[in-house]
Amino acid sequence: MTARRDEIAIIGAGLAGCLAACFLARRGHPVALYERRPDPRTGTAERGRSINLALSERGLDALRRIGLDEQVMTDALPMRGRMIHPVEGEPQFQSYSAAGDRAINSISRGALNNALLDAAAELPGVRIVFDHRLVGLDPTDGGLTFDTPHGPVTAKASVVLGADGAGSAVRGQLLAHGLLSESVDFLDYGYKELTLPPLGGDFALEEDALHIWPRGTSMMIALPNPDRSFTCTLFWPNQGAGSFASLDRPDAIERHFAQHYPDVIPLAPDLVDDYQHNPVGVLGTVRCTPWQVNGTVGLLGDAAHAIVPFYGQGANCAFEDVVELDRCLDECADDWAAALPLFQRRRQENAEAIARMALTNFVEMRDKVASPVFQLGRRVEHALERALPGRYVSQYELVSFSTTPYAEVRRRVRRQHRALGVLAGGAALLLVGAIGAALSRGRRA
Ligand code: FAD
Repeated sequence: MTARRDEIAIIGAGLAGCLAACFLARRGHPVALYERRPDPRTGTAERGRSINLALSERGLDALRRIGLDEQVMTDALPMRGRMIHPVEGEPQFQSYSAAGDRAINSISRGALNNALLDAAAELPGVRIVFDHRLVGLDPTDGGLTFDTPHGPVTAKASVVLGADGAGSAVRGQLLAHGLLSESVDFLDYGYKELTLPPLGGDFALEEDALHIWPRGTSMMIALPNPDRSFTCTLFWPNQGAGSFASLDRPDAIERHFAQHYPDVIPLAPDLVDDYQHNPVGVLGTVRCTPWQVNGTVGLLGDAAHAIVPFYGQGANCAFEDVVELDRCLDECADDWAAALPLFQRRRQENAEAIARMALTNFVEMRDKVASPVFQLGRRVEHALERALPGRYVSQYELVSFSTTPYAEVRRRVRRQHRALGVLAGGAALLLVGAIGAALSRGRRA
């Protein structure tokens, strides 16, 4: 393998890596994109590994900038709200936006990755190298070592970007060289995917919603696919009652679903097979610092800040990273030594903000969405959004339908809640005053 010394090496041709390759090639940088897997455009997908994902405004904004949004949206299925499935009774729909017109989009992860690979491959200056698993990195000179089917291969690059996901080998190498510290907080929950095939040629459930079966300490969700199937994801505890570990025999699996997800049984002919054969994935939050070393090695996407998937924002956030990196390169005239630290300063507090919101949203989705108090709260919130357009905006709306930086979303939502608290307090005082006045009038009469 020959490699050009001035190349930018991107490790990982996943969502963030491919998008970064497109942005950097457009800036005129020669890019080598190294991926451990074979070319996914010619192979088959892994069984039960996050088939689809929800793409919202932040991701779309990034794709728009490289002219790929329309192509990606061709097969997208808009989801306008949550469909809540109780154990008994009819499902209830909760719209995401006050007017009910805004939607997040269910799209195939594989199709999105392939579209990005095609886009990167078409650009002059981009080399995509499959079957190359990074196993060694010398941060002092950009030396890279890969495991390949034909044995070890070495290369060099002027700048190395780690876009190699939550278990990043680039991050691991920086850690091993004592150049970075990290924390990985695993949830006590895992995830497993199941399929609901089309029913009589049509979707088995309403196709324009994200379906949720909230069950207190656990939940299942389902997103529609273009082939009219649904991919369900179980988010269950790893150990204890109702956990993945506690259910393995076919009769026990069927009994559990009949008790907790009775409406799914007639829609899932391969339930037991899917359950027994699909893997349990891990869920966790990755934090590390710094995100760059010497202005020559940087991290982005899940490699820098993997989060739990409960706000549907991991990929959206990774795409937003690429837009911000491009902006930093603009402002620093492509001086990496200045751009990478600037990127970290701007993005780190936003990654932390969405990490926290995603963890909080797990409790909301698996538990609160089913409660009448929560549902009333959402109706009040939508009424406020209609009454105070642009002045009161819900957290969900700001996260999913805007590009307001995540940290600013949290600050704004806190300000809104404080203002509402003051208003509610003022209204209560007026009410108490009015009651007091009426009582003293009554005593005088
Ligand atoms: P990845 O997509 O993980 O890509 C990393 C790439 O690097 C892969 O191609 C991998 O093969 C390659 N690689 C890894 N190691 C090496 C190595 N040593 N050498 C070379 N290549 C390597 N996000 C959303 O926005 N919306 C959602 O609805 C959503 N749902 C999710 C549901 C689940 C169950 C999960 C687990 C995640 C979900 N996410 C969602 C999060 C989203 O999948 C990630 O945030 C996103 O994939 C991150 O992109 P990335 O490019 O940083 O990493």
